[in-house]
Amino acid sequence: MSTFDVQAIRAQFPILSREVNGKPLAYFDSAASAHKPQAVIDAQSRYLAHTHSNIHRGVHALAQEATEAYEAARETVRAHIGASSTKEILFVGGTTDGINLVAQTWGRTRLGAGDCIVLTRMEHHSNIVPWQMLALEQGFDILVVELNEDGTLDGEMFEAHLARNPKLVAFTHVSNALGTVNDVKHWTSRAHDAGATVLVDGAQSVPHLPVNVRDLGVDFYMFSGHKTYGPTGIGILYGKEALLDAMPPYRGGGEMIGTVSFEKGTTYNELPYKFEAGTPHISGGIALGAALDWMNGVGMPALTAHEHELTQHAHAQLEGIEGLRFYGTAPCKAGVVSFLVDGVHPYDLGTLLDQLGIAVRTGHHCTEPLMDKLGIPGTVRASFGAYNTVEEIDRLAEAVERAVSMLR
Ligand code: PMP
Repeated sequence: MSTFDVQAIRAQFPILSREVNGKPLAYFDSAASAHKPQAVIDAQSRYLAHTHSNIHRGVHALAQEATEAYEAARETVRAHIGASSTKEILFVGGTTDGINLVAQTWGRTRLGAGDCIVLTRMEHHSNIVPWQMLALEQGFDILVVELNEDGTLDGEMFEAHLARNPKLVAFTHVSNALGTVNDVKHWTSRAHDAGATVLVDGAQSVPHLPVNVRDLGVDFYMFSGHKTYGPTGIGILYGKEALLDAMPPYRGGGEMIGTVSFEKGTTYNELPYKFEAGTPHISGGIALGAALDWMNGVGMPALTAHEHELTQHAHAQLEGIEGLRFYGTAPCKAGVVSFLVDGVHPYDLGTLLDQLGIAVRTGHHCTEPLMDKLGIPGTVRASFGAYNTVEEIDRLAEAVERAVSMLR
């Protein structure tokens, strides 16, 4: 057992004191979206109540305070993921928005007919569809790395695809459907050897693991605020400065400009503002900074260890259930347990669990190509956050056993 004080953590999450269907809430859906500690709720409401103004343009006190708070949050993000400079930290709408930005700027100017890019079978739709959309227009090929039985990447196939000198390798750090933690450092280095640019989807890693983008060596990395105990509608795109500098802007408008003239055309602002057109989600950015501060207060190694213990415990408790099969049994996993039970539809199981106050996610988890390959419609997924307990997992296992006996 770790020394992690989960009860003290739980007390900071107001939503955990509510009941669902007359039962205490057991929330196992943090991979979809995590709940917010009071510190994050307070940071956002304090900003809205006391500080709000549009940022960067005003000389008055509120404009300056709001700008300072927003830029301080950017610095918090920089430090949290180990970027070299805040020029490399772009506030975006979330992981999906960040990937679309890279596809539409870097991708549109670098990928064409005769080129190929590498994705993997475990990608979320948001790291598939933007590339498919662009491939339709620009005519490049998409190569897919398939998976081994345990849900790890097929290394031989990865190497074979790299031998074709792809322009881009884009893959997830942690699978939201299987929980597999990919060896980002290794594959980034191999992809660089092959001359590729590397994009890593950090939506499921930043909430669970210490991440250092410089150590990993990645070129682009993105994550979502709402999965890291922060608000929806805000996220981060990290990009190496030289790459971002060379990329054309994504959206045009206020803030991203240097000068605008009908006669002489428009020049663009410096990084990171070149990619931040329009008034941003200011309170969201500030609250995201507060969320990362909160995670650091808990301590990333302690948080990782706690969730590892929960994942192990869930596997141990569920595996005795007759007919239950896990999807994703990689040696290195983070925060997700996906399963099916013979003869039981995942939606029926999810609905019965909900009646008992237990929130799990059922379905394809936005990974349809993975589910198709596995030949299943979806899974039941229990995903964990800082606030989950071993006792809640025991409750889940008992409830699954009971529900299965009713549904069979
Ligand atoms: N990638 C992965 C691995 C995810 O789990 C998710 C969210 N489920 C996303 C991308 C998309 O994140 P968002 O909806 O916050 O943009």
